Amino acid sequence: IPVDNFDLVIFGGTGDLARRKILPGLFRRYCAGQIPEDAQIIGAARSDEGDEGFRKLVGDAVREFGGGRHCEDGTLENFLERVKYVRVDAMGDDGWEELQGRLRLGVVKAFYFSVGPSLFGALAERLRSFGLADDDSRVVVEKPFGHDLETARALNATLAQHFKEEQIYRIDHYLGKETVQNLMAVRFGNMLFEPLWNSQYVDHIQITVAETVDVGGRGGYYDKSGAMRDMVQNHLMQLLCLIAMEPPARFEPDAVRDEKLKVIRALDPVDYHHIARGQYAADDDQPGYRVHVGDPRSKTESFVALKCHISNWRWAGTPFYLRTGKKLRGRGSEIAVVFKDAPHSIFGDEAGRHNNILAIRLQPDEGMTLGVTIKEPGPGGMRLIDVPLDMSFAEALGAEAEDVPDAYERLIMDVIRGNQTLFMRGDEVEAAWAWTDPIIEGWNRRGEVPKPYDAGSSGPEDALMLMHRDGRKWREIK
Ligand code: NAD
Repeated sequence: IPVDNFDLVIFGGTGDLARRKILPGLFRRYCAGQIPEDAQIIGAARSDEGDEGFRKLVGDAVREFGGGRHCEDGTLENFLERVKYVRVDAMGDDGWEELQGRLRLGVVKAFYFSVGPSLFGALAERLRSFGLADDDSRVVVEKPFGHDLETARALNATLAQHFKEEQIYRIDHYLGKETVQNLMAVRFGNMLFEPLWNSQYVDHIQITVAETVDVGGRGGYYDKSGAMRDMVQNHLMQLLCLIAMEPPARFEPDAVRDEKLKVIRALDPVDYHHIARGQYAADDDQPGYRVHVGDPRSKTESFVALKCHISNWRWAGTPFYLRTGKKLRGRGSEIAVVFKDAPHSIFGDEAGRHNNILAIRLQPDEGMTLGVTIKEPGPGGMRLIDVPLDMSFAEALGAEAEDVPDAYERLIMDVIRGNQTLFMRGDEVEAAWAWTDPIIEGWNRRGEVPKPYDAGSSGPEDALMLMHRDGRKWREIK
């Protein structure tokens, strides 16, 4: 079903994010028939591309970063006809009148800020002063949304001078992942799980986002941020909210976001004994983190693991363990709900015991696995084994993995539809910073240096100890 007709302006349209995600994503939606034939996609950035130069850039980006299987010959050429370019300086007055002249009346107008946050204020102001945006227009802002509570508040205040909250779409692409939404469907669409979804039956929950890559070309940016700001404050926090929140009355933006906010506000401050912080070390073949970021004394973490508690009726007593890092053994994002042991084994200790684990995989191969205990087949008496009930998303839908829409595709279409459910509200972002800031301030105050860990390992020893002390263990990073 096509969305309403729209003009989408991508500020930073020639940048890395636009080339890798936004533009190929729009093309795939075009192939899927969701983008109206006369929609306009307008790149706006500082360089002098012209319409033709930008079309070439978009064509190359689509070819390099994926067009999807169902795009027929000639579709790319048709798509490129919807693509335009205007040279605009966010900090100056150049290009704004031309851009204004290209926009149409009576269509949805969306402005994607795919530029650094230091430009958000200047863009918002000019969108209004040059008359491009009105009270129905939408602005999409990328992470990082602030560096701490103070800067996030300032950013919210700046945007609020020009736009209402209903017009602001703060992207956390994790919320656009198919499995993340499926998590809500599983929780609130089935009778099976929700009655067990509390501290009486759940022993603990693990959320892991593991990467094998190093900081790559982003060293300078990353070193000012670290894993806590870059991953935990936003992505892991959003996953925590969705897994822990109360059922909203309706699947509507504010109903969902109110419940997520309550989770963040119910989080206890984290005891610093319950945090493991690491930095990947050099090995024989490869330089370590400090060489990658060009600072031999850097104290920034490329890994963090922590235990936290949500103080409310549902979760009091059930710890949540979060873990994320770079240069780890495997790449994968997963939420695992680890249920308690059955209260008594009628089969005796020798039969073995396994607790149920519901593992929700976000990447790679989005899907879910429920570990169920059964009898080991054969005549050898009653021995219990754990077998997975496995649901790969792509397989279940009879689709190829590449047909499952990418997070950006879905989120951009939601912007056009005017649905904010999968976007962060300003107060949520501030509450997340209010929880994260004291952790980072504590590290700085104590002059803490992250522990080195081997590239290709599962992180520093402290992270293993965090679980071990509680008689638990991390799920393996494959
Ligand atoms: P980039 O440096 O590759 O691109 C920046 C873009 O902004 C370019 O198109 C450039 O021409 C434009 N630009 C810079 N100054 C301008 C000005 N004064 N006026 C007009 N245009 C100007 O950056 P990126 O990696 O594409 O990231 C863009 C934003 O998205 C950043 O906020 C970044 O943190 C965020 N982000 C990026 C990624 C990613 O994977 N690249 C992921 C998540 C979030």
